[in-house]
Amino acid sequence: MRICTIGAGYVGLVTAACFAELGHYVISVDNDEKKIKMLKKLRMPIYEPGLEELVVRNVKNGRLKFTTDIGEGVRNSDIIFIAVGTPPKEDGSADLSSVEAVARAIAENMDSYKVIVEKSTVPVETGEWVKRTLQLYRKKDVSFDIVSNPEFLREGSAVEDFLHPSRIVIGVESKRAEKIMREVYAKIKAPILVTDIKSAELIKHASNSFLATKISYINAIANICELVGADVVKVAEGMGLDKRIGREFLDAGCGFGGFCLPKDLASFKWICNKLGYNFKLLEVVEEINEGQKRKVVEKIEKLLWNISGKVIGVLGLSFKPNTDDIRFSVAIDIIRLLLEKGAIVKVYDPRAMEKSKAVLGKKVKYCKDPYSVSKGSDALVILTGWEEFKNLDYKRIKKLLRVPVVIDGRNLLDKEEMKKLGFMYEGIGR
Ligand code: NAD
Repeated sequence: MRICTIGAGYVGLVTAACFAELGHYVISVDNDEKKIKMLKKLRMPIYEPGLEELVVRNVKNGRLKFTTDIGEGVRNSDIIFIAVGTPPKEDGSADLSSVEAVARAIAENMDSYKVIVEKSTVPVETGEWVKRTLQLYRKKDVSFDIVSNPEFLREGSAVEDFLHPSRIVIGVESKRAEKIMREVYAKIKAPILVTDIKSAELIKHASNSFLATKISYINAIANICELVGADVVKVAEGMGLDKRIGREFLDAGCGFGGFCLPKDLASFKWICNKLGYNFKLLEVVEEINEGQKRKVVEKIEKLLWNISGKVIGVLGLSFKPNTDDIRFSVAIDIIRLLLEKGAIVKVYDPRAMEKSKAVLGKKVKYCKDPYSVSKGSDALVILTGWEEFKNLDYKRIKKLLRVPVVIDGRNLLDKEEMKKLGFMYEGIGR
């Protein structure tokens, strides 16, 4: 099939590369000239395991092309996926200006029947606005169908998730569009759920808000564990063995971040309010999450008294492991809290150093590895759960630190082992 993806970010680029890998002809459009230039030279603008290989292979076999020209993409495709960003505005609502701009550009370039698919995460009723925009701005009297096909991939395993999803949700208004969407995904083995457009839009917001709620729930339990001296890791294990609950998303820690959960939660809360429903539960979920970030700072203060003038070594900057993405990263937020309190901050991350330099500038010292972060620091703080932080030489780290304090914001390390090594160790909820 002839597919156009608009937006070549984490979702759009992965979607384009995977569809090409499945045998479709894909034109990937982005208005960021630098990004498209890089991609044409087969250089990746983002780090995502397995992505480069797919892009290189499919560009070489002629199934994947990159362009900044949206018209070229629209005219040469039957199905158009909108995968542009929907960032949060000050008030929490989603900024849908890119979605609208793309809808207008599609309208102006449509020359035959097209299926226009919302892949970006958007509030319920966006489909209606996209449809209206297409009707208002189309130049030729051609028909089209709107589809909502939310994406559930996770950064860090995006390619794998796209090719092996837990489900494919397709919100449609016509049998014709449903048939085409089934064909697009024919080679992927996963349950397909066909709904109306609004239900599909809601499935995405409801799912992400539920996941965020699960994390805040276990973080609240972690706080109770700390009050009574219980271990939240064990509590989560005990809860997770119940199939109705499940173990995933029950890892207590310094909070959730990233480009999905916080913004989708805020946007869902906002749209519910607009529709006349005060979804108070989601407010508490956010409150608990903010509290977890402050907890890390409080733990340092509990062990070291004043933070001002202390050297704090930070391991992890990306919002989660296996990605270089630092958007709404809890690590960056906590570093800012530490800087506000006058700490001298040294940092290391396996992938996210470059992107962090753009937001933290010269305010922190960038180190080449965890050992140089530890050298002379008053405390070592783990803020992202990278696997490699589990297997460091902690004996060596203890010698390098000025004070053997480790705050493990992701409960990565074995508490008893760390104590045996002579660390003052603080996890979350244990
Ligand atoms: P991103 O910022 O990485 O990519 C968006 C891309 O769209 C950018 O490259 C940008 O240049 C491009 N763009 C913006 N306006 C454009 C325009 N008018 N014309 C052409 N290109 C334009 O964002 P992302 O992480 O890929 O997220 C995209 C959407 O998918 C968001 O709605 C997000 O909530 C959703 N989503 C993201 C994830 C994730 O893990 N990142 C997962 C599921 C859903």
